[in-house]
Amino acid sequence: MYHEVLPDHLDIPSWLVVREARFRRQMRYLKRHFRILSMDAAVDYLATAANQVKARRPPAVITFDDGYAGNFSCALPVLRALQLPFTVYVSTAMVAGGGRFWHDRIIAALITAGRGNLSIQTSAGTLEYSGRARLDARRWAGIESILTRLKNLPPAEREVIADRLDQDLKVPALRMMTPAELHELSRDKLVTIGNHTHAHELLDQLDSERATATILRAQTLLEEWTGRRPVHFAYPNGNYVGETAALVKRLGMATAVTGNPRTWVEADSLFEIPRIGIGRFDNLNLFRARMCGLLQ
Ligand SMILES: [Zn+2]
Repeated sequence: MYHEVLPDHLDIPSWLVVREARFRRQMRYLKRHFRILSMDAAVDYLATAANQVKARRPPAVITFDDGYAGNFSCALPVLRALQLPFTVYVSTAMVAGGGRFWHDRIIAALITAGRGNLSIQTSAGTLEYSGRARLDARRWAGIESILTRLKNLPPAEREVIADRLDQDLKVPALRMMTPAELHELSRDKLVTIGNHTHAHELLDQLDSERATATILRAQTLLEEWTGRRPVHFAYPNGNYVGETAALVKRLGMATAVTGNPRTWVEADSLFEIPRIGIGRFDNLNLFRARMCGLLQ
């Protein structure tokens, strides 16, 4: 599970953004040691019991969440050169509106705070952030703990907080694909476009009517932009409950991926597929350890 890949010189120290050179090395490693399948091919593979008897190279699927611009400008050329199929799960509101996710705005603001401290007032009390950690990975841990606590606030309040922090924002911001870029991306035979809801709602916080509405709205827009109706789904932020999985299935999906950080086992449901998250701080050794299931 990736989110974004961008050229090395863009210094965006967010876990979500993997450097291009590192990503290329990771993809070469995958190509050598795994059989990379599209999501459709993976479903077929799992349906055929005979396949599950020891493959020389274990199968793996490459996925991206959200629909960031670098999926098209940076990751696609790398994956095309290696002829590796991949799936991009798109949240359509951000693509339609050219907008930005609240969590990216918060990350950008905290990075702007630099090495200083920052207090964030919320209805659930004050969150204290300290940017003093020397390692990027440590600083990210501090950012992540702020994000985790903001996720428990009402969505409207998160936007207000992001607006407030945004006011003195001066770092390069992450950008989503435009509909035209998404259209171009989807034309490549290597690419599968999946549904990631319309506005990245956390589905365990919605009733089934609203969950249905956001998923179907994304279906309509993705079909309009790519000419195809997605059959693969990713739960935003990995949040789901049992009913969500049943709903996604009823709405015509063949699979749904989570953020449960481990490799697939035979008992797993196709609607609760685990994924190994890869981020900016994974060097090749960490990447290999994660792919071997050593760091689950
Ligand atoms: Zn997402």
